[in-house]
This record gives sequence, structure tokens and C-alpha cells, in this order.
Amino acid sequence: MSRRKFIKNIAGASAALTTGALASPAHAARKRFVWKLVTTWPPNFPIFQEGVKRFAKEIKQISDGRLTIQVFAGGQLIPPLQTFDAVSQGTVQMGHGAAYYWAGKVPAAQFFTAVPFGMNAQGMNAWFYYGGGLELWREVYKPFGLTPFPMGNTGVQMGGWFRKKIEKISDLKGLKMRIPGLGGKVMAKAGVNPVLMAGGEIYTALERGTIDATEWVGPYHDLRLGLYRAAKYYYYPGWHEPGPTLELIINSKAWASLPRDLQLIVKTSATASNLLMLSEFEAKNLEALRTLETRYKVKTREFPAEVIKTLHQYTKITLDEIAAKDKLFSKVYNAYEQFRTSNDAWNSISEAAYARARKL
Ligand code: CA
Repeated sequence: MSRRKFIKNIAGASAALTTGALASPAHAARKRFVWKLVTTWPPNFPIFQEGVKRFAKEIKQISDGRLTIQVFAGGQLIPPLQTFDAVSQGTVQMGHGAAYYWAGKVPAAQFFTAVPFGMNAQGMNAWFYYGGGLELWREVYKPFGLTPFPMGNTGVQMGGWFRKKIEKISDLKGLKMRIPGLGGKVMAKAGVNPVLMAGGEIYTALERGTIDATEWVGPYHDLRLGLYRAAKYYYYPGWHEPGPTLELIINSKAWASLPRDLQLIVKTSATASNLLMLSEFEAKNLEALRTLETRYKVKTREFPAEVIKTLHQYTKITLDEIAAKDKLFSKVYNAYEQFRTSNDAWNSISEAAYARARKL
């Protein structure tokens, strides 16, 4: 290629690039967005709040500064349990929390966090990404102008902190316990008075005796919250939250205003966070549990089989009762159950069979 021809080619290519950059869709794509994201978590809360901050930081880098997300912990901009309304009304563009906090507005939302005795994290992700779960979630949130994404999972949680031993189902009667979602409604059948409160309020409530018991997350987070100072019995397993999913919610109008490539960056980053948060719990929980047991003399106990069996029966009754009164709940319940049944069938010859095989 002659030098003249080479220069001409370069000039042509650069003219094409310039034209492309100034054409209207591409020009719109250079627009910079500065969004606000509020969470339901305490400030500096590891994995959840820190994970959301990492999500925002990485999106800024990947998008070359075209999408900046300012992250606020619960209470910094609005009270934590007003996250849903704030994003729905467009006061802020994004929120991070858990769908079951909004059970009072839309009972069907609870399926997108956790169902007592339901699917674990692996099952939930399969349902969301390949089993129609995410489509249903979008349908449930559509009337609120919200677009949801799974973004984080704790794995199987702990059953909770109690001041006294739980040896039989009647030991639960009369307890005031912080336990959200369907788990709380199941506990109500056992005579518990379930309370919903955000993470930042739990320790004080338990310490002052405003509540008698609480569930929160798992050893890693419960250690940080200092719950061992207010109760000594730490029960497992978290039958009520076997793999709860956290949510990213986006105001649907704001979402529609994002160019497609930024939408893809947000979606892909949320999926990455979904995996990273779960992995962090899996890696860090046991060490925290050992610290609770050895340094703080916490008594780790398994719920008696009889208590678990009864709670399992109450779960079925609870779900059927709500489904009879709420059409949307019933629709999501049926879809969830259908997927769970096939997931259980596969699980029985994959994960469960493998767990048995390792013990032989
Ligand atoms: Ca929990």
C-alpha cells in the first residue's frame, strides 16, 4: 500500500468513526447518568452494603463514567423500609433489599426472597434465570413501576437467636420474634408474635427485651451485629430462609431511559454480584461460627425434629391460606411449587445423592 493510499484509508476510517459518534442514537449513548441507590442495610454492612458499593464502583469503571451510582445505606437518605416506595415513586432510581420486606404491599413478593422449606440458592437461581421465576417477578412488580433483578443470596441461614432453649413447639408460644416474610407467618401459627424490623434496629430491641428472639442472617453477619451479647442459644437450620435472594430494584422509567449497553452492564453486574455475595457467605460463615462458640460461649443447637416437623406442617397450611385469599400469590405459588417439585426430583439424584455418597 502506498503511503498516500494508506493515509487516505485512515482518513476515511476516522471520518466514518466521527460520523458514527455524532449520529443521534450513538450521541444519546454518550449521555452521562448519575443515579441514586438506597439500600435496606446498615452502613458499612459487609457483603450486602459493601457488595452494592462494589457493584456501583465497577459499573462506573466498565461504563467509562457514563453511569455513576451513588449508594446510600438504610437511613442515610430515607428509612430502610421505605426503599420500595422511594424507587417506585422515582425519588431514587435504584434500591437493594429483599422482596419479602414488601409483603404488606404485595404478598406474592415473598416467593422471590425465600419460602420456608423451599428451594436453596441453587434452586432459586435456576428458577429465576431458566425457570420463569424472573418473568413472574417482573409481572408482580410491574404495577409498582419497578424492574427487579436477583442480586445476592445468603445461602441457608441460621434459625435464629433465643434467650431460652427451644425443646418443643410450645416453647415458641408467646415469644416476640423479629422474623420477616412467610417464616414469620408460619411462626405465628406456633403462637409467636412476629415483628419486622430493619437490621440496624435488631440488637437494641433484643438487648432491651422489646423482642425475645430474632433471626438475622448467619454467623458472619450475626457476629458483627453482636447478637450473642443479648441471647446465647443459636439455633439451626434456617428452615424459614433456605437460600434467600436479595433484590436490585430499578425504577422502570429510569431503566427505560438507559441505553441498551448500559442496561446490559447493569444486568450483567447484578448477576455477578448475585454469585459473589453467595460465595462470600459460603467462605466466611464457619469461621465466624467458631468465634461465636469459642470466644463468646454461644450454644449452637439444632432445632428438635419435632419442632421442625410441626413448622413444616404449618408452612403448608400458611401458604394455602394466603393463596386462597390472594390470586396473584396463588399464581406465583403454583409456578414456584411446580419448579420446586422438578428441582427436588433432580436434586434427589444429584446434590442429595452426592451428599449421602460422601458419608459412606
Ligand atoms: Ca434472615
